[in-house]
Amino acid sequence: MSDAIVVGAGPAGALLAYMLARRGVPVTLLERQTDFSREFRGELLMPSGIAAMHEAGLRQQFDALPNLPIGTVQIFRGERPVVTFPIDGLPVSPRVVPQPAMLEMIVAEAAKLPDFKLERGVTVRDLIYEKDRVIGIRADAHDGPREYRGDFVIACDGRASVIRKRAALPQDRIMQGFDVVWGHVPGQFPDGRTARAYIGNGHLLIMYPSPEGHTQIGWVIDKGNFGDIKRMGERWIDELAPHVSPDLRQYLAANKTGLARPFLLDVICDRLREWTAPGLLLIGDAAHPMSPVGGQGINVALRDAVVTSNHLGRALKMREDEATLDFAARNIQAERWPEITTIQDMQQIGPRLLLSNSLLSRVIVSAPMIAFAKTFLANFIARRFDPFLNGVTRVVMEL
Ligand SMILES: Cc1cc2nc3c(=O)[nH]c(=O)nc-3n(C[C@H](O)[C@H](O)[C@H](O)COP(=O)(O)OP(=O)(O)OC[C@H]3O[C@@H](n4cnc5c(N)ncnc54)[C@H](O)[C@@H]3O)c2cc1C
Repeated sequence: MSDAIVVGAGPAGALLAYMLARRGVPVTLLERQTDFSREFRGELLMPSGIAAMHEAGLRQQFDALPNLPIGTVQIFRGERPVVTFPIDGLPVSPRVVPQPAMLEMIVAEAAKLPDFKLERGVTVRDLIYEKDRVIGIRADAHDGPREYRGDFVIACDGRASVIRKRAALPQDRIMQGFDVVWGHVPGQFPDGRTARAYIGNGHLLIMYPSPEGHTQIGWVIDKGNFGDIKRMGERWIDELAPHVSPDLRQYLAANKTGLARPFLLDVICDRLREWTAPGLLLIGDAAHPMSPVGGQGINVALRDAVVTSNHLGRALKMREDEATLDFAARNIQAERWPEITTIQDMQQIGPRLLLSNSLLSRVIVSAPMIAFAKTFLANFIARRFDPFLNGVTRVVMEL
């Protein structure tokens, strides 16, 4: 028996379990994978997510991970460069950090604490109820079915959360018309510090270097078209050629054989109206899967973990009664709601403007308009999109 059962060791679950154990709350963290590198995971961290890692007390360990700060963002209109934004003047630069390394570091730090237990290779299947209250979960482990019971279950099992399905909590979905095809190309193109976006009519490609020595490419496609791309085999990369600059075209052609198999990010964006039920809380993607726009998912998941540790960690540590634990869980949703809804709403703007073929979109993605935006509207844009960098609310660890 554990006070807290945390399901899923992604950014939300791993950090939360670490923070609970640091408070002295006995916690069991259950993860279906035996190895963090078996899931395809995002790796771009914004200053808001970096600050959450620092708040959690892992500054030194986090800063020591392989990482690559992005120094410059270049925007292309088709094959032509239009603007270059230096961003190394920001107080904290967005950073590419391989997630498997980050998760291994967090659970290794947690394993130093007596109240932490991680069980890998355990797939949670269902919730256990007693008098309408969640009191544990049922799972499958390598040696057969198991049950885990505790004072509170926190579901951090990601965008396909089985706990969300079992709890049948109401949700609001924001329809998305696009998916993203991700691929790795060997080597850091163009210089190991620069991210690029190629914007065209109804077309968008983003790319950034990874500290693991490859370049990550994200190609936005119409929802449902991935089957056609997979059937092309490695020729899918040729489809990009007409939309990118000659240097990238050459680079892709030269590295085609080292290209990793494309991976589909089926874009969904929604949020549960209620993140809690008696004895249960959902956070991270399990409560609010984010659109990929602005690279927000990891960051808001880490920030959810800090806020959960503040409210629920404190209540569990004080051995509060059930009503107080449930109240603490509701306060977590109340505190996180303004940030999640603001960011999800902002995430809808870019695709609407960039990916449709309307006259307005064509004007907005025209080269003169992008250059104009850079020259005259830079401050406005920086202010308007600050939540993508720094979040909306103040998230600090409370003792
Ligand atoms: C291809 C791709 C690229 C992305 N790029 C970025 C990016 O650059 N920046 C960014 O901020 N976000 C990015 N994201 C989104 C980001 O990865 C997620 O929003 C973030 O990881 C959510 O964290 P989480 O802890 O809530 O869930 P997850 O990271 O999804 O973790 C859930 C964990 O639960 C485990 N699990 C699932 N089901 C069960 C079960 N039944 N039993 C036990 N364990 C279970 C999973 O194995 C996983 O480890 C990307 C996502 C994808 C798919």
